Parts: sequence; structure tokens; C-alpha cells
Amino acid sequence: MKTIKTTFLALVLVISMATVSFSQSHSHKPPHGGTLRESGGYHIEMVSDASTISFYVMDASNKVLDDKTLSGEVVFENANKTSSKAALKKVDSGALQADLPKKDIFATCTANLTVRGKAVSVDFKNKSASEKDIEHGHKH
Ligand SMILES: [Zn+2]
Ligand SMILES: [Zn+2]
Repeated sequence: MKTIKTTFLALVLVISMATVSFSQSHSHKPPHGGTLRESGGYHIEMVSDASTISFYVMDASNKVLDDKTLSGEVVFENANKTSSKAALKKVDSGALQADLPKKDIFATCTANLTVRGKAVSVDFKNKSASEKDIEHGHKH
């Protein structure tokens, strides 16, 4: 009886350890300080600074895909319903990057990507501008 109990406890321990390691490897915490969303089984993180926008395409454990065939474009949608597009280019960090519109302040953007031959589309809200600036729609 003692052996059975010990085996059972060991099994429970193995299962709970497996669960812990799974939840640690599958995290939705953005590793580059941006905003992370899931689409097509990939984790896509949007990071923007004053002049550029970058998208990191990662697997479920937030490892940036090392894939030379990654490509895509970003569509910027403005509060007044106009939009503009920019091609994304692979940069050294492994991200796909484009310049932000020079004057417009976008409300949302959609990354239309081709990942390993599959179309993956994901949209993000602009969180780096205030609602007032987004509503106003452009820089001065
Ligand atoms: Zn996920
Ligand atoms: Zn104005």
C-alpha cells in the first residue's frame, strides 16, 4: 500500500511540474515591452517608437521566428476613416519594421503578414498616443 501511495504522489508531482513548465513557456507577456496578440498560432508583438513601428513574429514560447521568408505590410487606419499602407522590412532585431506615417496619428493598425507561406493578420490599437491626439488625427 505504501508503494502505491508513493507512486501516486510521484505521479502527481510529475504532472504538476509539467503544468508549471507549460504555463511558464507559454506566456503572453510581451518580451520587447510592446503589445502582444495571438494570431494563426503565433505570438505577434507590436512595438513602436517616435518614428517606426515593429512587429515581432514569435512562436508560443515567445521565441522570435528566424525565418527569411517573413514578409508583410502594415495598414494604418486613422480616426477619420482614411488609411495608408507601408511595406514591412526585416531588421537586425528579427522584427518586421516600417516607418510610421509622417503626419497622421493612426487609431489602429493591421499587420498583414505571410508567415511560412500562411497569411496571418492581426490588428492593434495605438496605445502610444492619447485619445485626443488620435481623434485630432495628425501631428503639427
Ligand atoms: Zn499564446
Ligand atoms: Zn490639426
